[in-house]
Amino acid sequence: MQDVFDSDSSSHGSLVSRYQGLLQRLRTAEKRFDRPNNSVCLVAVSKTYPARDIRAVAQEGQQDFGENQVRDALAKFPELGDLNRTWHFIGPIQSNKCRDIAQNFDWIHSVERLKIARRLSELRPAEMEPLNILLQVNLQNEVTKAGISPDAVSELAATVLELPNIRLRGLMAIPAPENDFDRQRSIFSRLRELQERTSQQLGISLDCLSMGMTDDLEAAVAEGTTHVRIGTAIFGPRQKRGTEDPD
Ligand SMILES: *Cc1c(COP(=O)(O)O)cnc(C)c1O
Repeated sequence: MQDVFDSDSSSHGSLVSRYQGLLQRLRTAEKRFDRPNNSVCLVAVSKTYPARDIRAVAQEGQQDFGENQVRDALAKFPELGDLNRTWHFIGPIQSNKCRDIAQNFDWIHSVERLKIARRLSELRPAEMEPLNILLQVNLQNEVTKAGISPDAVSELAATVLELPNIRLRGLMAIPAPENDFDRQRSIFSRLRELQERTSQQLGISLDCLSMGMTDDLEAAVAEGTTHVRIGTAIFGPRQKRGTEDPD
């Protein structure tokens, strides 16, 4: 939860205590839903926050960070190279950004087009580990939301599997806001079932599910998430980015 009384949201002490609080919340959820301790990866979504905040959280032991704008992320990376952290790209992907993404990130959660998957595969340097890919699914067929229809997952997954230099790991979704815990669970269970069905159909084992944010983390843990994506609950309220183009 955001602390409205904390005017200096990037002050070191409150950042660290928010981070530790969130970690504790995640570990508590694992315990409550019989998930092994430490089995859910926390992706700390550091978009819009400065490199010094990322460094402070990294110093607490955080390994995985998420960014959703290429330009923003690339501006910070030179200051953070010594940290050797794992970078997740979670935003919309434009073709002309595929090279930067393929060269600088370890995971991409937001693939929704074959053309983009092909480019990422082509542009991933062969000497690097394969890029880990998740397909973003529009679970509720919301017109304004990114992601492919659940019906299209199997076909896209089958083609993506054939590409070199990338490794298909699973599915990602951002459901519409929903306060009721049981309804949150039931939506997440659809992504899990889709994942299981796709794995069966293709005879492979997709092992990752990227689902769960600040307000539905527990429901996601209950339904088998492997990656939760949390920003403001760790780093504090975000400044609006303004109206410039996303990239
Ligand atoms: C920004 C973002 C998050 C984190 O949202 P917060 O409200 O900052 O916790 C998670 N997933 C995606 C895809 C995002 O773009």
